[in-house]
Amino acid sequence: MKLTALKQIIVYILFITVFQGIAQEEPLIIQSVGGLRTVKSGEIWLSHEHIIVDFIGADSIDNTSWDRDDILKQTLPHLIELKKFNVAYFVDASPQYLGRDVSLLKELAQRTGLTILTNTGLYGARKNKFIPHTAKQKTAEELAEEWLIEFKEGIEDTRIKPGFIKISVDNNDSLSPMHQKLVKAAALCHLQSGLTIASHTGKALALWPQLEILTKQGVSTKAFVWVHAQAEEDDSNFIKAAESGCWISLDGLGWEIDKHVKKLLLAKNNGFLDQILISHDAGWYDPQKREQNIQPYTPIFKRLIPLLRAKGFTSNDIMQILSINPSKAFAINIRELQAK
Ligand SMILES: [Zn+2]
Repeated sequence: MKLTALKQIIVYILFITVFQGIAQEEPLIIQSVGGLRTVKSGEIWLSHEHIIVDFIGADSIDNTSWDRDDILKQTLPHLIELKKFNVAYFVDASPQYLGRDVSLLKELAQRTGLTILTNTGLYGARKNKFIPHTAKQKTAEELAEEWLIEFKEGIEDTRIKPGFIKISVDNNDSLSPMHQKLVKAAALCHLQSGLTIASHTGKALALWPQLEILTKQGVSTKAFVWVHAQAEEDDSNFIKAAESGCWISLDGLGWEIDKHVKKLLLAKNNGFLDQILISHDAGWYDPQKREQNIQPYTPIFKRLIPLLRAKGFTSNDIMQILSINPSKAFAINIRELQAK
């Protein structure tokens, strides 16, 4: 009798625990160019792509000079093709002063049915070529305030709001004062908005000083995406980054595949597939070029997935990296560092 009673208690406790777990699972909310959305499970994300990149530089860029009709004509077929692969979410990683055109993104979203995310923030890599002179004079607090205005009121006069913070640093082990400021501004903006910080980083040596700044500002590394992580060659740095808790973005799949397969195997074998994002970093329309050569957003579906299946990846593994992880990574949610 005693044993049966004990069993009943254990079953009851298990039931309550599981039930509370389900009950506490909050819906994931993201901000797209069309407004706030609840994430639908089971749909595919491309978490780092580009519609437009204009490398002319912050002091010369002029969105009004772009041939809007030609951009639509050249990019729409590539986006429409994504429907075949169940892609529902498309993250446009082009920052302000480097090709962000939010009203064009909204039109593409309306014409394709894709949920498209844009960003706030500033891109520091390439020695601040994409940061206007006026922004260089501002403090981290002032930059964060400007980004928060975009989050609360919309970008310029469009009312379109960013879905994440995009920053970028040059790949050095010590960050320049300007790049330290960008990371601090991103941390401050995150604490007020809950927007995830995606930072163009490359090799891990520039990751560690960014994570340090986040920690100092009380932001959890779970709010941070290590962008272009495929540039790192030392496996131990991936394991160390995974232990830190950040998202690891392997996003050069539009350009090469093999390096990514090796990293994905490393993640699977070491149990951190649930922190991996993959994407192509492909596109894009370059307004400075007469002839466009837009790279498709499809090698993941046409080439990578068959390779992964041959290496033992299951459907669950593939949905983990293409659907579950990006849904969590881009969900709006303030992630403060837990006090120890
Ligand atoms: Zn990119």
